[in-house]
Amino acid sequence: MLGSEDTIVAVSSPAGLAARAIVRLSGPDAIALAQRVFRGAEAQLSDLPGFTAAAGLVVMPSFGIELPARAYLFRWPHSFTRQDVVELHVPGQPAAAGALADELISAGARQAQPGEFTARAFFSGRIDLSQAEAVADVIDAADQEQLRSALAALGGQVGRLCSQAAEEITDVLATVEASVDLADEHVILATPSELAGRLTRICGQLHQTAETAASMPETSDQPAVALAGRPNVGKSSLLNALSGVDRAIVSALAGTTRDVLSADMPLPGGGCLPLLDAAGFAAPLDPLDAAARAAARAAVASADAVAFVADLSEYPAAQRPDLDLLGEIRKANPRASLLLLASKCDLYARDEQAGLPAPQSAGLAALESATGCRAIRTSAISGEGLERARAVFAEAVHASTRDSSQLMGLHLRQKRCLLAAAQAAERAAAMLAGAVEVADLAEVAALDLRDALGQLGQISGQVVTEDILGRIFSRFCVGK
Ligand code: GDP
Repeated sequence: MLGSEDTIVAVSSPAGLAARAIVRLSGPDAIALAQRVFRGAEAQLSDLPGFTAAAGLVVMPSFGIELPARAYLFRWPHSFTRQDVVELHVPGQPAAAGALADELISAGARQAQPGEFTARAFFSGRIDLSQAEAVADVIDAADQEQLRSALAALGGQVGRLCSQAAEEITDVLATVEASVDLADEHVILATPSELAGRLTRICGQLHQTAETAASMPETSDQPAVALAGRPNVGKSSLLNALSGVDRAIVSALAGTTRDVLSADMPLPGGGCLPLLDAAGFAAPLDPLDAAARAAARAAVASADAVAFVADLSEYPAAQRPDLDLLGEIRKANPRASLLLLASKCDLYARDEQAGLPAPQSAGLAALESATGCRAIRTSAISGEGLERARAVFAEAVHASTRDSSQLMGLHLRQKRCLLAAAQAAERAAAMLAGAVEVADLAEVAALDLRDALGQLGQISGQVVTEDILGRIFSRFCVGK
């Protein structure tokens, strides 16, 4: 991933039929390799200046195919990767684009790894790390709000904020260090309280940004709602009804056993939300069910919201087991929002006006007080309550990203770094505030200030480990 001396190639348009497919090359031999397959109608690719498009034919002798094509040429350093880049646009049959990429690989290009084009843009200094992360976010954006946040980050908003803060902290650090050198000459560059005041202001801005920015979901923790409840209460029927997908084709959640099923539920405002059927959560502690139980518990523990499904038609008998199960769910995931679905309402409440029969009514009150939320009465058969459940689920997982006027989106990793930078700068501020002269505590304060700069550098990628880079670029798809 880190080498950039060779020339990489990948199909960079999404899989599936489309008007056109794009095969992208980047590296020192990009133009020469593209020329091996591209016959320009008017000129050779190598004779063209950068930022030009040329019409012609792509010829693939190994496959015996010729296709009409356009080549787009970006000469280094004026390209996304700061290398020579050629994009070959061909008619959008996936097989044709795949064959073209294979032809270029036989000619000497290397298959690009996921995110490798963006990684080259990062390593060449074309974009900072927060912008690289934003490329993946733009691709992954599930709704307009996420897209707006990702585009703002791509425009460099996160990086700009960090470099402003870093500049100010560097300035304070320089003053602190110079104060030591000048102490013997009794030159006072700044008083401790002036520097502490500047740092406190910077910390305030960092805190405010970390707390008010929208949360960008990491791939691994994309928001999800888990459906939990005793067996037979109607969880899988609700999963199907809410997602509009038949269980028969609901796919197993990657990385878990088939016992945790997942389906995407369309959201009222666009986009979709994964629903997880944590069916095995309430399974008995039996060696046969151990894997299902562990997978369901992991699904509940990682969900942003847990919808507890209760079948009131089995009350009062089922009331105690339901309350016990709710307690276990709370323990498994204390931070998730709890939602309450009273399922199969077609069985016990045909007449809205008449209210619920006594056992159901008392059971419902107990559940509502245990969860602290109003139940939504649903029926997978009549469809009652499904629209409302979708809206409440969306609200629960988007609660932290609700403020759409706030354009900046931050990943958990970036937030952690911002807060760690603020804390380090706060420590320095507190120390300086108690000092008579800056030089008295300069060395310790400088350590904290360097720590703050290191944290900010991790966001923009100036100070970053290979492990972090590996994790960030592994989020990408091939071709980006
Ligand atoms: P799970 O074990 O919690 O996933 O429950 P299922 O979805 O498999 O449903 C258990 C039983 O309840 C099945 O026989 C379903 O047909 C029935 N059922 C599910 N939802 C409803 C509903 O909304 N109304 C009625 N009357 N029956 C339902």
